Amino acid sequence: MRLNLKDIIEISGAHLPFSFEVDTDGLDFEGIQGFSSPVIASGEVINHAGALSVTGEIRCGIECLCARCLKSLQKELYIPIEAYLAEELQDEELEDTYLLDGDFADLGEIANDALVLNMEQKYLCSEDCKGICPKCGKNLNDGPCDCGEDQDPRLAVLAQLLEKE
Ligand SMILES: [Zn+2]
Ligand SMILES: [Zn+2]
Repeated sequence: MRLNLKDIIEISGAHLPFSFEVDTDGLDFEGIQGFSSPVIASGEVINHAGALSVTGEIRCGIECLCARCLKSLQKELYIPIEAYLAEELQDEELEDTYLLDGDFADLGEIANDALVLNMEQKYLCSEDCKGICPKCGKNLNDGPCDCGEDQDPRLAVLAQLLEKE
């Protein structure tokens, strides 16, 4: 999505709001299975004494599996957008500075980068999810399984290793 900044590019203190649906085609997110709602970026471009900043957030619903118990989850994400726009890039410019194309800013690129950088590789149904028993496969959040004490400790170690990967 290209935003025309003609109306604020010469006016210090001016704001230009934006809101658009992010095109996620071609983006690959390992940790999720898909989006359950449109991915919407909104915020504003602000002219601070000639320096242009982009602030806002991306809202989306994701579908994923708990990394420990494999339960399917839906989560709402709020991902911050924080970027700067410049007519040319200096060597010392930070990574979050994007080039203007004349009076236009490519907000689609900024939103895509914010998504890619902030999407987690793993989601959990809860921080203290107990996972599944490596022996019988039972979801231990539903209660202990019958394997109990005699669970093979080597399998428990393996399960921990797999989780860390
Ligand atoms: Zn879980
Ligand atoms: Zn078990």
